[in-house]
Amino acid sequence: MNCQELISYLSDYIDQDLDEELHTEAQQHLATCHNCHIVLDTTLRTILLYREANRGGIPQERRGRLFDRLQQSLASRPDCP
Ligand SMILES: [Zn+2]
Repeated sequence: MNCQELISYLSDYIDQDLDEELHTEAQQHLATCHNCHIVLDTTLRTILLYREANRGGIPQERRGRLFDRLQQSLASRPDCP
């Protein structure tokens, strides 16, 4: 799994919606890739903040935009393998 794949699965990974196999691959990637680990950490923090502020969690539309932005910033980062 590469970084872009990881980010595209990140939403499902956080929701624990991935196949067992993909979940393992994502975990392996996160264990070895510092960049993605930071992205995951930032995303989890953002979602947690939303949960605390809104109780019901992050609205789907807002969440979609958040992940779009993550993907864009990752795609434009030259040091990402
Ligand atoms: Zn990565």
